[in-house]
Amino acid sequence: MIETIDQACVRLRLLDDIDQELDRLAAEAAAAPKNLAAERSVLAELTTAREATEQALAGARKRMAEAEREHEALEAKRDRANKRMETIASQAQLDATTRELETLAELIGESETVILMGYDEVETLEATLDEQTERQGNATVGLAEHEAAWIAREPIVVARQAELTAAREPQYGALDSRVAQRYMLGRQQAMFTPLSGITWIHAGTICTTCNARISPRWVQDSGDYKAWHACDSCKRLMVKTIVQDGPEGDDEAAEAAEG
Ligand SMILES: [Zn+2]
Repeated sequence: MIETIDQACVRLRLLDDIDQELDRLAAEAAAAPKNLAAERSVLAELTTAREATEQALAGARKRMAEAEREHEALEAKRDRANKRMETIASQAQLDATTRELETLAELIGESETVILMGYDEVETLEATLDEQTERQGNATVGLAEHEAAWIAREPIVVARQAELTAAREPQYGALDSRVAQRYMLGRQQAMFTPLSGITWIHAGTICTTCNARISPRWVQDSGDYKAWHACDSCKRLMVKTIVQDGPEGDDEAAEAAEG
């Protein structure tokens, strides 16, 4: 026995709710592993960057230690030259030691500059390393949380999908085959709203999905459950004329449509 249009409308709404929930679950199941993969790759990049900074810092510290040793050696040389000045006997020796002290003063000055620059470099790298360590730590914690959340959530999604798929079968199967076809045709049209096989009318003759104007006679037919009509533009079946039954209830528009 073929059911009446108003019975089929009830069934279509139920089916549409099921299909929309299935769509959301499918989207969630597709997005979760992608998001986790993206997080893992961000974490890998952070780890690589942090390791590079660690190596650079080790290199800078080693160069600093060498520069400090060199600096100490130069200062020791200068101290010895100064000591020699106290016991110098000839003019030649005095000239030679004076020249040596001048050269040493220059080298010590250069060495101090190298050490100061080295301190700056080490300080900058230490700050970078701290920041990268924190970001890497946060990313590690975030990833672990999201992985655990998805491990807990995935079986719920899978179970709900099975439940909905089982509930869908008899609803879809009970529809008149032409109505079922028109419903599926509506679902194939991409709109700015979630995929759906049905639509509503607001302000008397406007399709809620695509804002196309619907013939008042069609609106009347659908409202009275006299005949099936689908919006010409978005191809979705009109299930009832008043907007309060739609997903975005609006009392004023509903009253206007009814009155
Ligand atoms: Zn439409």
